[in-house]
Amino acid sequence: MSEPAHLSAAMPVTPPARVLVVEDDETVADVLREALADPRFELVFAIDAESAMRSIDERSPDLVLTDISLPGRSGLDVMRHARSRDPEAAVILMTGYATTQNAIDALREGACEFITKPFEDIATLPDILEKHLGNRRLRLQNTALMLELQEKNAVLERHEQELRERVELATHQMATLYRVAMEIGTDLGLAPRLDRITEVAIQQAGASGAAVWLQHEESGEYALAAHQGAEAAEGEEESHRFLEGAGVLGMVVVDRAPVRRERCDTLPGLVVPAEAALLVVPFIQGEACFGMLAVWGKPGGFTADDQEFLSLFASQASVQIRNSQLYEHTKSLDRLKSDFVAVVSHEIRTPLTSVKGAVELLSDDRYFQNNDQQGKLLTIAHANAERLLLLINDILDFSKLESASLPMTIERQRLEPVILQAGQHLRTLIEERRIKLEFEWSEDLPDVLLDAHRITQVVTNLLSNAIKFSPIEGGIQVRARAGEGVVRVEIVDHGEGIAARDLPKLFRKFQQVDSSSTRKVGGTGLGLVISKGIVEQHGGLIGVESEVGSGSTFWFTLPIAERVAAEHASRA
Ligand code: ADP
Repeated sequence: MSEPAHLSAAMPVTPPARVLVVEDDETVADVLREALADPRFELVFAIDAESAMRSIDERSPDLVLTDISLPGRSGLDVMRHARSRDPEAAVILMTGYATTQNAIDALREGACEFITKPFEDIATLPDILEKHLGNRRLRLQNTALMLELQEKNAVLERHEQELRERVELATHQMATLYRVAMEIGTDLGLAPRLDRITEVAIQQAGASGAAVWLQHEESGEYALAAHQGAEAAEGEEESHRFLEGAGVLGMVVVDRAPVRRERCDTLPGLVVPAEAALLVVPFIQGEACFGMLAVWGKPGGFTADDQEFLSLFASQASVQIRNSQLYEHTKSLDRLKSDFVAVVSHEIRTPLTSVKGAVELLSDDRYFQNNDQQGKLLTIAHANAERLLLLINDILDFSKLESASLPMTIERQRLEPVILQAGQHLRTLIEERRIKLEFEWSEDLPDVLLDAHRITQVVTNLLSNAIKFSPIEGGIQVRARAGEGVVRVEIVDHGEGIAARDLPKLFRKFQQVDSSSTRKVGGTGLGLVISKGIVEQHGGLIGVESEVGSGSTFWFTLPIAERVAAEHASRA
């Protein structure tokens, strides 16, 4: 009964197995031919070992069924030959005079079955063959699967290796970026930052040179700002600048994307070998490209990895460059402001001094007869001129301290006369408020390093504050004692004290704890800031301890002369 067409078409078609039967006895061969007549097998017969081996070479059979004793050579030789050609070939041995020993030998050498003749049940022979053919198919499938698995494993290993390398590279790049950011961040100035950026770019990209161009804010032109590994081109500054779109760097500005080339040709403002490989990455902020970093001269040219790393580096560097530019801009504005304040204060001081002099002369009753009313007005005018002068002097000192141009002559001196001098300056105020002022120090106070004029100014300021904030007839102590390499001066009052929350504000510009218009005592709020600047310029410290209701202790330190001299000697 034939199968329906659709069913047979759907079944997988297994080609018949190639079976080689080696048998020298024709009768037995016929019996086998008949027993194995089955569409599952494609039979070939050989009558001796030689023709069997030839057949194996030509047809590579799936299964060999061979008699052991053959004319000439043995069936074992046939088996060995078959298995040397195909290690998975199934071999069934037959023998008429079996011994246990040759059965064991045959199986040890790889035979899969050992059959004795005459056959006990020849009808089972096809099934025996089919069983071993099935085993062989499974082994072949297994081998194919193993091979496939090995291939897949190899691909996986390759991927893993690639991934590992990429992770290592990325980790290395991140670590480098982090380290470099820390290094570049140590100096806020633009020039040292740019130098470091070009240096790192050369190292990391394996380049022979690097340069940075930055955009000029007003003209919009780009100009060389830092370079290493190439000479600057001679000639007019102007010719070294370029605009958006001009040349390879101008293209980077337009596209806001890196450019990698085999040749530099020319770079604005630099003398570079034309044939050197080039890589340029933009500095971007928001939408705009405000400059670029170029590296050149890597033997063999720059890679995509170099480009990726340098782009990352440039995006990090752009933030740092922007910070430096802002910092320098702020510094220059600050300088302008200080210069302006210095000039204006100086210009006000001169006429003010002459106004004060004129008022003093007018109040002198040796030259002018003033009635009471006039006398009072002149006293007010004089007091105000004096206050204005103090204010102007404070502002002038402050702006000089800010621009580090307050002149100082620091010398080895005794401290006591300087303190006494400050007390002398404030004699009138002390008498007016009937303050009991005490000086406390030991005879052997060591010499210190100071500018007498400026330290007098500091003590005068601290002492005048102490007087201003002390009650009438209050007591103030000025103490000095030697400590660790310094002399510490304390001005102790028993006045109203300062609230803890106000203490941090004291040494900041224009800070008055009571800044209301009803303030009892006058002042600019600059005295403590100036004192701090002066003390710090001496290498000392200044501070305050205070408690509301019990008074304040303002203190500062100055370096002991001996100690500084000893340090110098040990360094020399
Ligand atoms: P000013 O010229 O206004 O005195 P200072 O910088 O010398 O400026 O002082 C700032 C502020 O610190 C003062 O206005 C005052 O509020 C507070 N202050 C300074 N010294 C004392 C003190 N001994 N006792 C209480 N408050 C003080």
